[in-house]
Amino acid sequence: MNLQANIPTTALPRVVIIGGGFAGLELAKKLDNQQFQIVLLDKNNYHQFQPLFYQVATAGLEPSSISFPLRKLFQKNKNTHIRVTEVQEVDTQNKEVITPVGTIAYDNLVVAVGADTNFFGMPNIEKYAYPMKNVGEALLLRNTLLQNYEDALVATDTELRKALMNVVIVGGGATGVELSGAIVEMKKFVLPKDLPELDFAQMEVTLLEAGPKLLNGMSEKAQTDSLKFLQDMGVKVKLNAQVKDYDGAQVILADGTTLPTKTLIWAAGVTGNKVKGIPAEAITRGNRIVVNRLNEVTGLKDVYAIGDIAYMEEEKFPKGHPQVAQVAMQMGTNVAKNLKAGLHQQPKKPFVYTDLGSMATVGKNKAVVDLPFIKFSGFIAWLTWMFIHLLSIIGAKNKVITFINWVVSYFSYDQSLRLIMRSKIEKQ
Ligand SMILES: Cc1cc2nc3c(=O)[nH]c(=O)nc-3n(C[C@H](O)[C@H](O)[C@H](O)COP(=O)(O)OP(=O)(O)OC[C@H]3O[C@@H](n4cnc5c(N)ncnc54)[C@H](O)[C@@H]3O)c2cc1C
Repeated sequence: MNLQANIPTTALPRVVIIGGGFAGLELAKKLDNQQFQIVLLDKNNYHQFQPLFYQVATAGLEPSSISFPLRKLFQKNKNTHIRVTEVQEVDTQNKEVITPVGTIAYDNLVVAVGADTNFFGMPNIEKYAYPMKNVGEALLLRNTLLQNYEDALVATDTELRKALMNVVIVGGGATGVELSGAIVEMKKFVLPKDLPELDFAQMEVTLLEAGPKLLNGMSEKAQTDSLKFLQDMGVKVKLNAQVKDYDGAQVILADGTTLPTKTLIWAAGVTGNKVKGIPAEAITRGNRIVVNRLNEVTGLKDVYAIGDIAYMEEEKFPKGHPQVAQVAMQMGTNVAKNLKAGLHQQPKKPFVYTDLGSMATVGKNKAVVDLPFIKFSGFIAWLTWMFIHLLSIIGAKNKVITFINWVVSYFSYDQSLRLIMRSKIEKQ
């Protein structure tokens, strides 16, 4: 099939944005589309709200509640053109982006491709462990968790049944903490009702963290409170525990300990998505693209990088910013302002990250919140976490559905979405 991107020609300067995540979407929304032609490229036709993937994985929310179609957001912007395609390469000499639907010329290019799971070069982990970096992976994890209990029910071998029931989560950041809490709550409130023939007292939920503390980067209060919450809920938390290998049934730790599980969830780190054509000199640790305070990529003209993929050193962040949604959105906003300033020959403003705080939920009525002026945990923190997340989800319908799901599961101690959706249609 002969394809071409079919972007209309225009007298307006064209900004091509690769990636409709938190950074790219914010930029596309904030850029004035009377002054620029905007071309938004993403391999998916929807935006994903990653902070709630763990609820999809644990049957608390449907994927559609936390995903939003990109086209719906820009229905009224006639100078914004979306193409659902995976960018293969950028040609910064000729100012073109190369995609399976053709080559697209740009005046300004913004790379906002985000990051993917880092398996730290361990092939067995990549082969057998479950990452959770997109909505498809969250759904696969949900299917696997649920199917494993179906299999445990009919397993004749005690060791196999144990491995099918146990869950091991690697990475004590917000994702690992939130997943551990949600899974141990499933163990307590949901699974014994669904599968009374299984003895859930035998099921172990283990959280492994290579460092000495959970929630690295948050306050000491958040770190100690989250550890206590998880331990009280029944999660076995092992700090300073480094995973060495996994064969699909046994996790092997650096100290020789083995843990039987068929479900190893890998939430231990990310690495920037590669974009061919960005020179090697501009790539640094974690596969991030080095930018200056205007988000301009080192050594390139009219090329910017924003969000998780961007590595910028600021006085307060000498080793780069944390890879979180607020940084991505604030970079998108600042680049939008600077592109406009450039058009009108006005001075551009260096990026300054305003840290609005961070938070993680551990379970029902339990969360930890660090705001710039106060740090707290428990029930009020949990309400704060819910309120902020509801505000952040895109789409009024998504907010309402999520809120209803949360209210129902709060009072019923249950989730109703325990469907094993097969990802492949088997053909004869
Ligand atoms: C499970 C999980 C939980 C998280 N929880 C939190 C949290 O609670 N709070 C918080 O602040 N942050 C959280 N984060 C981090 C936050 O989601 C990221 O910092 C944020 O998504 C970064 O935004 P981004 O736009 O740089 O990248 P993304 O949001 O990842 O967007 C990148 C986009 O680029 C597209 N793309 C990639 N490659 C290509 C290509 N070659 N061609 C076309 N399109 C491409 C992708 O499809 C995607 O839409 C979490 C992340 C995960 C994975």
